[in-house]
Amino acid sequence: MSPVMASTGPVFAGIDIGGTSIKWMIVDEAGAIATQGNERTDREAVAPQVGRIGARLAGEFPGLVGFGLICPGLVDEEKGAVIYAANLELRGVELARAVEDATGVPAALMHDGRAAGLAEGLLGAGRGASSFLMMPIGTGISVALMLGGSLWSGATFSAGEVGHAPVFPGGESCRCGSRGCLEVYASAKGIARRYEQATGEDTGAKAIEKAVGTDPVATEVWGTAVQALALSLTHMTLTVDVERIIIGGGLSHAGDNLLAPLRAQFASMLTFRDAPEIVRAALGGAGGRWGAAILAARVGGSSCYERWQP
Ligand SMILES: [Zn+2]
Repeated sequence: MSPVMASTGPVFAGIDIGGTSIKWMIVDEAGAIATQGNERTDREAVAPQVGRIGARLAGEFPGLVGFGLICPGLVDEEKGAVIYAANLELRGVELARAVEDATGVPAALMHDGRAAGLAEGLLGAGRGASSFLMMPIGTGISVALMLGGSLWSGATFSAGEVGHAPVFPGGESCRCGSRGCLEVYASAKGIARRYEQATGEDTGAKAIEKAVGTDPVATEVWGTAVQALALSLTHMTLTVDVERIIIGGGLSHAGDNLLAPLRAQFASMLTFRDAPEIVRAALGGAGGRWGAAILAARVGGSSCYERWQP
């Protein structure tokens, strides 16, 4: 067994609980990653599994003073409980309590998308903005809403589920039971599905993006996605008037192939006011885990994360 470097100060554990895997990361006060790892999610027994991972980490790192847990679904962040998470088959589970009971170390729980927004706000593309919305575009679409320096989770902990707001009424059907949802047209999965529907070709959103301008179907599918996103961002901008919009998730890797047409359409829909800036997320896929580590530092009573530079 390799010796673990003796830590002189406290360390913090971020645990990202997803439908396929659970990923963790231990960060010290300087923001250096002491260790990270992952294992397959045991959907039959998520809470005991997370408790076991927590106990193992607490045993390996005696300086561990806080756990930050993140997961998808409906999360009661005050109680540290999962109200409902379809991909994890969890309903009414006090996940933070499970880890505290297994380790004796304080734990906090946050929605994974909001945690990514928290990390972008403190350490990434949201720095310096007191209000922004962060939209990760991947398999699905949601937004994290930072207003006046704090994240808004909503009256029922379901703020930001814009992926299921219809943008084309009566449009193509969505897995949520509605039609014309943003996600159907503009998620990476939706773009690939619409292209396959028209051509019979099963190719990813990345290949479709590269074919814009040469392949007419790719051009139409990509253009419709951009239009759907611009509509959604227009509604949100006119509602909450944020300073900045941050686009994350897999689709953000398209860079200006996505952002340039999106900025143009968005600006053209906002007829009587200027458009807020649209920028790309800085932390990529690691945003959620950094958010979990920040949460761990906070619950451990430290504000050292203000100096972190992931
Ligand atoms: Zn939907």
